[in-house]
Amino acid sequence: MKQYHIWTIGCQMNKADSDQVANYLRRAGFRQAETAEEADLVLLNSCVVREHAEVKVVNRLNSLKVLKKSRPDITIALTGCMVDSRIDDLKRRFPWVDLFFRPQQWEVLSGWGESRGLPGMDQGEDSVPHNPPVSAYVPIMHGCDSFCSYCVVPYRRGKARSRDLDEIRCQVQNLVQRGAKEVVLLGQIVDAYGHDLPSKPDLADLLTAVNGIEGLLRIRFLTSHPNYMSHKLIRAVADLSKVCEHISLPIQAGDNGVLEAMKRGYTTEEYGELVEHIRRIVPNVALSTDVIVGFPGETAEQFASTMDVLRQTRFDKVHIAAYSPRPETSATKNLRDDISFEEKETRRAQVEAMQNIIAAEINAGFLGRTVEVLVEDQKRGKWYGRTRGDKLVFFVGRAGMIGQLASVRIEKTSAFALQGTLE
Ligand code: SF4
Repeated sequence: MKQYHIWTIGCQMNKADSDQVANYLRRAGFRQAETAEEADLVLLNSCVVREHAEVKVVNRLNSLKVLKKSRPDITIALTGCMVDSRIDDLKRRFPWVDLFFRPQQWEVLSGWGESRGLPGMDQGEDSVPHNPPVSAYVPIMHGCDSFCSYCVVPYRRGKARSRDLDEIRCQVQNLVQRGAKEVVLLGQIVDAYGHDLPSKPDLADLLTAVNGIEGLLRIRFLTSHPNYMSHKLIRAVADLSKVCEHISLPIQAGDNGVLEAMKRGYTTEEYGELVEHIRRIVPNVALSTDVIVGFPGETAEQFASTMDVLRQTRFDKVHIAAYSPRPETSATKNLRDDISFEEKETRRAQVEAMQNIIAAEINAGFLGRTVEVLVEDQKRGKWYGRTRGDKLVFFVGRAGMIGQLASVRIEKTSAFALQGTLE
């Protein structure tokens, strides 16, 4: 039996794409290999959102050069955001790679399979694994029209394209029939879902449709953009029983000058009003955000404003990135990357230290309370899963709890997780 090995880096969208490739390959008779050395097909699913990620991909590609030399029969494939329209450049740089395809360019992979006598890819069948995880990713749209000045995504993943609502509902239904209990609906700007479809459904309509699926316990969605977060969507989070009270709402910076240079399209005041509105309608909401420190020209005062906004807003989680210039983006073309690596790291560490204190304080509020946990798996003798607010919980339970909702009394908390016992 032929074997495949997939290496994935980057966002949940890449993870979902890799899962789809794995489903296809399994249907075509392959089985998973632990290492690239054992495989007949090695696929790298790349990310170039930060320079650090791109360096990792290049190192990985270089290590495969040796493997290809010793086993010329192996197929090496590259997909993800590193693959753009200039495939000839990539072929020159990495001549030992046999197959390049852009994200979602499934016809290329399908053609590769068919040329070897394998079945072609089937979008419906291959989007649903036979044994899905408890929490399954479901991309509901691809690409982005926003062109934030630092971001390479629109150049690599193209314009926003929403999937048909009924097609998504069917996919979720199939996932649930095969064992999934939670779905995470994915989009680069997930709250812009449907704007490009003829009947213009929106994310609230999709959540309502998916909420009605029997057997599904929870629904999440990632990642929102403040400019698209409508009142209707916030109401849907409050009213639909399966939609978790958890919103990922990147702010990126807490200073209006930096936000303008980032081309984010909102001010800190507008963002603050939106957060207030969300918290008014969904009082127990958990909010997470993304922040970039060291954007070109970010002064010490501007960074201090970001710290102030984070301190005042008190997010449950903050994903922090140090700015790294990416080819093609307008920030790289027009702005000088003038904050030193050391200064970026200092700012990143400052945000991290402050957020650890805030998260520890928020989580301490769960001490002695009973929370509902959707159990995902076991680690070091303990079950783990998440609350509706996306808090990671470890607990001692009984056998066979995967996929169940457990009531857990919290006895210990930290900035990163909660611990307790089954009630
Ligand atoms: S909204 Fe901005 S940061 Fe997010 S994917 Fe689109 S361009 Fe990139």
